Amino acid sequence: MSEDFYDVLGVSRDASAEEIKQAYRKKATEYHPDVSDDPDAEEKFKKIQKAKQVLTDEEKRDAYDQMGHDRYEQAEKHGYDASDAGPGGMGGGPFGGMGGGGGMGGGGLGDIFEQVFGGGGGRGRRRPRKGRDLRTGLEITLEEAYEGVEKQFTVERPEECDVCDGEGHPPEADAQTCPECQGRGQVTQVQQTPLGRVQQTTSCPRCEGEGTLYSETCGECRGEGYVRGEATLTVEVPAGIQDGQTLRMEREGAPSPEGGPRGDLLIDVAIAEHEQFEREGDDLRYRLPISFPQATFGDTVEVPTLEGSVEFEVPDGTQSGETFRLKGKGMPRLRGRGQGNLYVKVQIVTPDSLNEEQREALEAFAEAGGDEIDVNDGFFERIKRAF
Ligand SMILES: [Zn+2]
Ligand SMILES: [Zn+2]
Repeated sequence: MSEDFYDVLGVSRDASAEEIKQAYRKKATEYHPDVSDDPDAEEKFKKIQKAKQVLTDEEKRDAYDQMGHDRYEQAEKHGYDASDAGPGGMGGGPFGGMGGGGGMGGGGLGDIFEQVFGGGGGRGRRRPRKGRDLRTGLEITLEEAYEGVEKQFTVERPEECDVCDGEGHPPEADAQTCPECQGRGQVTQVQQTPLGRVQQTTSCPRCEGEGTLYSETCGECRGEGYVRGEATLTVEVPAGIQDGQTLRMEREGAPSPEGGPRGDLLIDVAIAEHEQFEREGDDLRYRLPISFPQATFGDTVEVPTLEGSVEFEVPDGTQSGETFRLKGKGMPRLRGRGQGNLYVKVQIVTPDSLNEEQREALEAFAEAGGDEIDVNDGFFERIKRAF
């Protein structure tokens, strides 16, 4: 199997997205490690997945076509390193620098891409980058995860400076064309990169990409255009969300220092532990304590669910530790149909104290069964200790 992504999927270079998806499905079925006899199935399956991932993403496919296989692989590897190291390198992966912009400070790859596609022509202002993505946490209850909830929360983030309306200078300040970049807002440098020598176009450091210098800077924000602030936002938490999942609010992150769109706000959702239920995926688990006579004769008991309690028939002869399934009484499936199950695990509670009557009844019970009462034996030992 060749390394080239088009060859891996067996499609032509001008294949449509639909053709690529179809080819992927066919190949993936063929080489799925669970079904394929091919000794290299797992390796091939990974290649197929990788090829599909790149070729079905328009931006990545463009980059791949432009750079060719080897350079693309190198660039991607390099990009990961750069974005991990960068202060704003969260989210977006190696391609955050493309399209809508992406984490600032991501480093090399974004610049290289911008130099390859658009922006790099040397004329005209580069598209302003979007602001940094910000991250915050949000705790909700299991009930809220069950129903779905609109949650209001407050997040600290840079906000546009009121004094200068985000301009960074008073409106009456004198403007002057930046001598460093002659007003273009960008400067071109030749840099050594893992891809060889690359002519790299970056934002002008003197005017920060604006192309203009001002005689005064805003005292409130020291020319930044934004100040520390906080915002109260409302996020829609979908029913069925799992602990640890992340929601993304687009354009609610940090403002762009270059006048571009805000970054995104990532919200890590934590679900508080519940007193009664343990969650496993979409299922819930509940421990139901019942007495020995209830287990023996059977009984109708109330079992809590997240939408009120239901009647549950304990069958006669139930053993301690037996688990019963209440179908569809678990969590709703996230953005899907139906619900998980509620598993009720019965636990027979051994009494730790008995009154005289109960004691006699139990002794009689044991004798009637022909048991010799050995006071050192678990249950009866405990009865004895109770008196
Ligand atoms: Zn400049
Ligand atoms: Zn200001």
